[in-house]
Amino acid sequence: EATRELLLSRIRDVPDYPKQGVVFKDITPLLADPVAFTALTDYFAELCVRHGATKIVGLEARGFILAAPVSVKAGLGFVPVRKAGKLPGATLGQAYELEYGTAEIEIHAEDLCADDRIMVIDDVLATGGTAEASLELIRRAGAQVAGVAVLMELGFLAGRARLEAGLRDAPLEAL
Ligand code: 5GP
Repeated sequence: EATRELLLSRIRDVPDYPKQGVVFKDITPLLADPVAFTALTDYFAELCVRHGATKIVGLEARGFILAAPVSVKAGLGFVPVRKAGKLPGATLGQAYELEYGTAEIEIHAEDLCADDRIMVIDDVLATGGTAEASLELIRRAGAQVAGVAVLMELGFLAGRARLEAGLRDAPLEAL
């Protein structure tokens, strides 16, 4: 509980970013505080072990900053999910709906195998579109989903409900 309070105290609300009316949750103060950053990555690493993950998928871009140190702490491989066109090898792609239009993310499917159980890590779950598409990619690559772990869940955007089908019975952990 003390850790939770520390971490939440290091998140800055930025009004009207990236557009008018949106309050952006900025994690850079947390990253700049070594005690908070260590506590967060320790917490995520413990979740990965507890849920039997064999690899970690980080979602571009802030998910990379969190997932990479967690992978090293937990002794697990790291696999990036990137915006379309950024990965050099053979990719699987998944399009998903945004408020206006669509986006697409990709993965190097050959970095996952059938025995893998994947923990997806990102900073914020908003509408759940990005995480939902990543679960689709993981399943299409032939691996299993161990769970999704985020620092923050913006409850009013109902991302948890959107993820329910994709998670099946895997956990969504949000601090
Ligand atoms: P979603 O697909 O769930 O709508 O959006 C989640 C993605 O957008 C995540 O990759 C997350 O990094 C980013 N995102 C959306 N809103 C915020 C926010 O308020 N703060 C931060 N740090 N990231 C956000």
